Amino acid sequence: MRTVVVTGPGEIGVETRDDPVRPGPDGAVVTVDISSICGSDMHFYDGDIPIYPLALGHEVVGTVAEVGPEVASVVVGDKVLVASVAGCGQCAGCAQRDPILCVQGAKVFGAGELGGGQSELLAVPAADFQLLKVPAGISDEAALLLTDNLATGWAGAKRADVSPGDTVLVIGLGAVGLCAVRSALALGAERVLVADPVAGRRARAVASGAIALEGPTAEAVLETTGGRGVDAVIDAVARDVTLDDAFAAVRAGGTISVIGVHDLEPYPLPVLMGLFRSITLRMTTAPIHATWPDLVPLIQEGRIDTTGIFTHHFGLDEAATAYARVAERSSDCVKVTLTPGGMR
Ligand SMILES: [Zn+2]
Ligand SMILES: [Zn+2]
Repeated sequence: MRTVVVTGPGEIGVETRDDPVRPGPDGAVVTVDISSICGSDMHFYDGDIPIYPLALGHEVVGTVAEVGPEVASVVVGDKVLVASVAGCGQCAGCAQRDPILCVQGAKVFGAGELGGGQSELLAVPAADFQLLKVPAGISDEAALLLTDNLATGWAGAKRADVSPGDTVLVIGLGAVGLCAVRSALALGAERVLVADPVAGRRARAVASGAIALEGPTAEAVLETTGGRGVDAVIDAVARDVTLDDAFAAVRAGGTISVIGVHDLEPYPLPVLMGLFRSITLRMTTAPIHATWPDLVPLIQEGRIDTTGIFTHHFGLDEAATAYARVAERSSDCVKVTLTPGGMR
C-alpha cells in the first residue's frame, strides 16, 4: 500500500509499504476513502517535533475491509470514521469514552506506534471502540472533522465553561479554531471574539458569527470588553505569545482552555497573576469518542455547520504539494484532504 511519510523538516514522500495486518481478534483493517492534513501533522513537517521517518495522518474516513471475530459493531463494507486517538476499549478510562484516560496509554494514529492514516489502508485496534459507522446526514467532511478537529474545538469550548451569554475569545483560526468558534456559539456564547494574523481566516470566522479583533490581541479584547476581559479564552495555537495573550485577556475568575499543541520547550506560567485573579487553566486533548453523542445530532440538526473548513483537495500521491500548500498558511487555505483514489 502507499502511505505518506515525513522524512525530515519539509520532506514528504509517498512510500510503498506492506499492507497492515489486522491487530488481533478485536481489530479491523479500514480502506481509507479520504483523509486530511491536521495542524498537528505540521509540527512534524515544520520540525517542532522531529520524529523521522514517520507515517503521517490521523483523520480518516473509510470502508471496513476486514474485521476480527470479536468485532460486533461494524461489518465489512461499512462506511466508518476512525477516532484519531485510540484506547484499548476495555478499561475504566475507555468506559468514559475518553481514550486519553486509557490505563494502557492513549495512542494517536500517525504518531509512531500506530499506522498513518494518510495511506491506502489503516489497521485499527479495538475496532468497536475506535470506529463509528458514519451516521445518516453526515458528509465526508463532517465525518473527517469528527475524527479530531471538531471534537477538539467542542472539547475546548466545553472545557472553557462556555455558558449562554458569555463573551469568549478564540485565538487561532485554523480548522480547530474555526470549529471552536462554531462550538462556542452552539453552546450559547453571546459574543465570540477572534484573533489570527491571517485576514482570510478572520473573515471565515466572521462568516460563522464571530467578531474579528484588529491589532494586539489583549489590548483589543480589553477595549472591546470595557476593560473587563472575556469570560473564557480558547487558545487553539498554544505558543508562548498566545498563552501570554490568554492570561492578559481573560477576566478575573475566567477560564483559559488550551487545545493548541505547544512545542517541546516549557512555558513560563504566570502563576502569581493567575492566583491573584482566580484563573482556571485547562489543557485538553479531546475525548474524541465522548464528543460524538453531542456533535452528531448538532450537525444533523444544522446547529453546527461543518462547511467552509476544507478548502483544498489533493490525491494521496500529491501529498508533498499538499503539505507545502498548508505550510504557506495563506489566506485561502485552511484544511486539505488527501484521497488515495486521486483528487476528486
Ligand atoms: Zn488532527
Ligand atoms: Zn483503555
